[in-house]
Amino acid sequence: MNTDFDLLLAGAGHSHLGVLNQWADGERPMGRIGLVSAEPHAWYSGMMPGLVAEHYQPRQCRIGLPKLCAAAEVEFIQGTLVALLPDTPELLLATGETLRSTWLSLNLGSLPWLPEQFGDGMELLSVKPFADFIRRWQQWQESPEPVAILGGGPAGAELALAMAGRVPAIHLFCAGELLADHPRRLRALALGHLQRADVQIHEHVSIQAVHGNTLIGDGQIHWRGRRLVVATGPNPLGWLRDSGLRLDGDGFIEVSPALQSRSHRHVFASGDCASLPGAARNGVHAVRQAAVLATNLSRAAIGQPLRHYHPQTHSLALLADGQRGALMSWANLAAEGKLLGLWKDHLDRRFMRQHGNRD
Ligand SMILES: Cc1cc2nc3c(=O)[nH]c(=O)nc-3n(C[C@H](O)[C@H](O)[C@H](O)COP(=O)(O)OP(=O)(O)OC[C@H]3O[C@@H](n4cnc5c(N)ncnc54)[C@H](O)[C@@H]3O)c2cc1C
Repeated sequence: MNTDFDLLLAGAGHSHLGVLNQWADGERPMGRIGLVSAEPHAWYSGMMPGLVAEHYQPRQCRIGLPKLCAAAEVEFIQGTLVALLPDTPELLLATGETLRSTWLSLNLGSLPWLPEQFGDGMELLSVKPFADFIRRWQQWQESPEPVAILGGGPAGAELALAMAGRVPAIHLFCAGELLADHPRRLRALALGHLQRADVQIHEHVSIQAVHGNTLIGDGQIHWRGRRLVVATGPNPLGWLRDSGLRLDGDGFIEVSPALQSRSHRHVFASGDCASLPGAARNGVHAVRQAAVLATNLSRAAIGQPLRHYHPQTHSLALLADGQRGALMSWANLAAEGKLLGLWKDHLDRRFMRQHGNRD
């Protein structure tokens, strides 16, 4: 295969889905464009808890990339990136193949932090990558056992509610307070739902390691069992550290408001893998960045001025309650109910339809 491109999109994150969608509907930049993704599908994070709760089928929560790419006249390349040389720029795939391009856009997401593991007495199930998470969760369902969940953010809370009733017992561990970054009322509503669902909540317990079949924090055993779900929030992809791109203190790619790397102007980054003041790492920002990114990838190639992404001060959070209802927060407001669940379902299905999923 000819490995030279004008533009490469690396990762099929939420921003790149929007870019492809926009190009499929209208004008795409000139030249040869490719999308590299480890998987042939992109999974929509907002529907993952509903999938675990069996409110959706897997095919309803994923977007087929070859078809979406074809509609946008973009070549689909299935492969896992293991290294990046931003000066050229070049992408190295796990197969040993190298891809070169003039412009590069990174939308690679993030991975949860995993506790150190000693021995193989416990199975660790990371919520990302989603494809692996769903496959292994389905295997676990063939012989349900008690689970512990690490992570007191929205993902940990939603997954605990979605798993309730599907496993014999659930223990949810948070290093601080549950939903600490959300309004107090949302936290109170979520605690009520979790208690009614019989989820045992352990706040201010920082788990550092897994020894055999035990969870260890501050020298104490906090739980014994064989299955651990890890939803500890976004951490950077380790291999980006060696890339030479300018990273923030946590290891995320520093970008300007135009979503352009602070160190390499022909590299763009968006979504969880990027670091932009004011843009929290969630799907809302990744989705909203798509329109600016699509415009800027076209404009950069012809030397036109770039648009800026202005993060909203507040993002809407809609958390599935596991019973087809939802909890909502925006600014300092919070609410709950079945109607919010219907609204969330409508928004999620609309996102999927817009990106070519017709199930
Ligand atoms: C259970 C759960 C529920 C969530 N619900 C919500 C919600 O309701 N609302 C919300 O706003 N946020 C939610 N989030 C957060 C949301 O998932 C992330 O913020 C969002 O997915 C980030 O999108 P992204 O575009 O950065 O990348 P992602 O959507 O994570 O996509 C990254 C892509 O890069 C690919 N990739 C990664 N590494 C490589 C590699 N080395 N080679 C090739 N391809 C690679 C992956 O396969 C994937 O296609 C949830 C998170 C979880 C875990």
